[in-house]
Amino acid sequence: MKIFIILCSCLFLMQPTASAAPKKDRAYYETRGEIVWEITTDEKVIALTFDDGPHPEYTAQILKLLKQYEARATFFVVGNKVKRFPDVLNQTLREGHEIANHTYSHAYLSKKNNIKKEINQTEELIYDTTGRRCLLFRPPGGFYNERLVAAVRAEGYKLIMWSWQLDTKDWSTPGVNTIVNRVLKNAKNGNIVLFHDYIEGPTQTIAALKIILPELKSRGYQLVTVSQLLNYNKAVPVKID
Ligand code: ZN
Repeated sequence: MKIFIILCSCLFLMQPTASAAPKKDRAYYETRGEIVWEITTDEKVIALTFDDGPHPEYTAQILKLLKQYEARATFFVVGNKVKRFPDVLNQTLREGHEIANHTYSHAYLSKKNNIKKEINQTEELIYDTTGRRCLLFRPPGGFYNERLVAAVRAEGYKLIMWSWQLDTKDWSTPGVNTIVNRVLKNAKNGNIVLFHDYIEGPTQTIAALKIILPELKSRGYQLVTVSQLLNYNKAVPVKID
């Protein structure tokens, strides 16, 4: 054991500082263009996102509000709900919104789960239901690691998170005003807002949207899908070999 420790220490000391592995934090993935939290732009554009649906009641009510305020949004759907509510998915697309992949079973993918299977099962379901393939993926719980980032890229997806200050935590029903304030006090150009169009039990998201949508519109924001938002990005990501 002692020899092992000495050997390890020597190897450690032999490593030149310059070749130290980069710290794989947000900046690392963001500058490589591998994960998007938000974008940099001077344009008044914001992307609203809704996770964990589709849901026959909640998603339908959200779609109605989005239509009323001429807003586009992105729905990160779960495969096992797509299977149950295919009509809601088709309606979402018909009304000009974007569909994105949020796994089949809402599994946390940081460790042993079969990432590829979870992504592909949902991709096939979305394709069978709508005839369309999606480009964006968001991991349940926002958990990611190197393996996940690589797998998502290998499957041809872009990994989308959300602006840190715009996690509404609406799933925890913190009160309509709390959700409203989280968005209206923090929303800026190029941000991505996280909502849920399915939660267990009664939702506060719809009541909050009735205040948030007209206010963002009156501030002059255009509410766009995440794919549309990406086209406004001023920051040029570092090229990946
Ligand atoms: Zn989720």
